[in-house]
Amino acid sequence: MYQNIIRELEAVPGGPEVLTDEPMSRHTTFRIGGNADVFVTPRNIMQTVEVLRIVQKSGFHFFVIGNGSNLLVSDSGYRGIVVRIFRGPGDIRVDGERIEAEAGASLSAVAAEARESSLTGFEFASGIPGTLGGAIVMNAGAYGGEMKDVVKSAKVLTREGEVISLTADELAFGYRTSIIPKEDYVVLSAEILLKKGDQDSIRAKMKELQERRITKQPLEYPSAGSTFKRPEGYFAGKLIDDAGLRGFRVGDAMVSDKHCGFVINTGKASASDVRLLMRKVSDKVYENSGVHLEPEVRLLGDF
Ligand SMILES: Cc1cc2nc3c(=O)[nH]c(=O)nc-3n(C[C@H](O)[C@H](O)[C@H](O)COP(=O)(O)OP(=O)(O)OC[C@H]3O[C@@H](n4cnc5c(N)ncnc54)[C@H](O)[C@@H]3O)c2cc1C
Repeated sequence: MYQNIIRELEAVPGGPEVLTDEPMSRHTTFRIGGNADVFVTPRNIMQTVEVLRIVQKSGFHFFVIGNGSNLLVSDSGYRGIVVRIFRGPGDIRVDGERIEAEAGASLSAVAAEARESSLTGFEFASGIPGTLGGAIVMNAGAYGGEMKDVVKSAKVLTREGEVISLTADELAFGYRTSIIPKEDYVVLSAEILLKKGDQDSIRAKMKELQERRITKQPLEYPSAGSTFKRPEGYFAGKLIDDAGLRGFRVGDAMVSDKHCGFVINTGKASASDVRLLMRKVSDKVYENSGVHLEPEVRLLGDF
């Protein structure tokens, strides 16, 4: 069924990595998820554009991922093509107070580059385990900062296979969202604008935030971070705790007893365990407080 497209993808100059029946549990921080029919990792931005144009034209379903740190993939996997935009720190360029980086750069690598160039404003993102692309999609944020404060523009690929540049306004950032999923754009690269600062203070701030994460978050278990969005005027973790759900389990999926906002995989949790746990938590919180919890984690495949 996929033979022709696999041949076409493998013929892209430089050869992107093309895998079949690839377990998504290898590519999500939850360590959960069945097989993707086809799994492609382009090696650079030119390949990314070519791969996506081929996939767009093919008529197969496709889904773009970064580091899979906000993703719950179904136990039955994904019937289509997953394109993974995830690279090492390779392409991050600093020019004065501007950083330009490819979508696959990890936030920690961008943050390290900012620190080494004495640029302040990106400290908040240094401990978020996603890619720059995923962070723009999600308008990722922490400790009072969010991507919308620092992103000046982004290059994206449209549904029609065209590369366009969007300003921060056009990216229409909202709480844990942006225009990207609405328009099916794929983020290719972004320009970040920071300010000159003192390197020692930047280093100290990143260290302090990392220590806060280590103390407060169950980083010793696989998870996708905060499972639910923060409802206006509340904290999801507190609502869950108040509903008596600290440590609540379905199979190996558990509401973390260290941070109730995180659902963790304590061993061999399945996606259906996590999904059922999420449903039960939402219902119980609604019963207890009248507040609706909405998933922050993106779901892929059939549930
Ligand atoms: C321990 C832990 C702590 C976390 N802490 C935080 C936190 O403090 N703040 C926070 O906001 N989040 C946090 N997260 C969640 C997560 O890291 C962020 O949402 C991150 O921005 C996701 O990036 P990613 O590359 O992993 O995206 P993925 O999970 O791979 O994808 C997320 C979404 O973005 C889309 N996507 C990814 N890349 C692209 C691209 N290039 N173009 C178009 N679409 C794309 C995917 O289709 C999907 O819809 C945490 C997660 C973990 C596991």
